Amino acid sequence: MLNDTTLLLDLDGASVVRVERLADGGRRVHLVTADETARACPACGVFATRVKGSAVTRPRDLPYGESGLEFRWHKRRWWCREAGCLRRSFTEQIPQIPAGARLTARLRGAAGRRIRDVGSTVIQAARDLHLSWPTVMEAFRTQARDVTEAPLPQVTVLGIDETRRGRPRWERDADTDKWRLTRDRWHTGFVDALGHDGLLGQVEGRAAIRVGLPHATVVVDHFHVVQLADKMLSIVRRRTTAETRGRRGRASDPEWKARWRLLRNREDLSDDQFATMWNTLLGEGKIGQTLLTAWIAKENLRTLLALARTGAGRHQVGHARWKFLTWCADSDIPEVRQLATTVARWWPEVAAFIDTGHSNAKSEGINRVIKLVARNAFGFRNADNQRLRTRCVTTRRACGQLRTAQL
Ligand SMILES: [Zn+2]
Repeated sequence: MLNDTTLLLDLDGASVVRVERLADGGRRVHLVTADETARACPACGVFATRVKGSAVTRPRDLPYGESGLEFRWHKRRWWCREAGCLRRSFTEQIPQIPAGARLTARLRGAAGRRIRDVGSTVIQAARDLHLSWPTVMEAFRTQARDVTEAPLPQVTVLGIDETRRGRPRWERDADTDKWRLTRDRWHTGFVDALGHDGLLGQVEGRAAIRVGLPHATVVVDHFHVVQLADKMLSIVRRRTTAETRGRRGRASDPEWKARWRLLRNREDLSDDQFATMWNTLLGEGKIGQTLLTAWIAKENLRTLLALARTGAGRHQVGHARWKFLTWCADSDIPEVRQLATTVARWWPEVAAFIDTGHSNAKSEGINRVIKLVARNAFGFRNADNQRLRTRCVTTRRACGQLRTAQL
């Protein structure tokens, strides 16, 4: 019964008997069942032999061509005459179009995969496939099971990243007149930081790592440590400008001109750029000296962090640490001393970074995707949906299908 049209349509279990052109330019495809098992009774499994009547359904399929296709499935109703079977009659069904289904399985699958693998929004997929929002969401939930029910991979290094969901909300207490944080929602993501498995899961709230994973080695991300030092430099600059000049910084101030160079890494500055910055600031008296002292503190901290993964021994790390801490202590600049105090307090985690060289770069990358998904969806009202969507687009199993076709 396999004709060319049936082959072209390629819908398992159905044969095309006729295609008609409609007045609006669309095409109507008449299908009949081409699967012997369709007449097996769904209750007892016995093949029925007596036809009760016929029925026509209008299942929807993938878009095909510009004008689209309309289906009419002419199927039979059967009597089940098996003794003891409670089901007296049934209509035919095939795996692509189960009883009661209004979409073909392949349309439903394609709708779900658009959200799961490509990161399309539900509304966009619904528009493209001419489906309703709840239908697409339901199809996505089914497809997402492949991701959420898959066993978690073995992970050597777990990246943890907390992201705020929405804005925190404050309320004034009527009795004490003090402001109180009433809503502060967080999502915590867990990432395979060393391997390629992407986001492993997300939970509402913040992570309690030391409680949940008492034996884990906690590593501080060096990027955030350097960021702290950069922030310190900017604060020192603003404060010293205000104190010595009695006003805010201006574009004509040498320290204002040097503000970006101060934040650059020494190795990213050419010798000329470095010499210009150094000499100008040195000629500026107290402001310049303070800033250069703070800048050296930052570079000492970077030198210490740069020992990560170099195989540096305890002695070498100890010396770099000592150099940084004493420089800060001798500086007499409160912000610089504060930086040293912070690093000293977090020393085990910083040392763990120098030891292992692990960073949270993967979490940061995944965070970008999370924000992108939220932006595309114009925000999420439902936090569960948001986690499911995020989980799917950032998990490697799904992302693997983003690769373009290769010849
Ligand atoms: Zn039966």
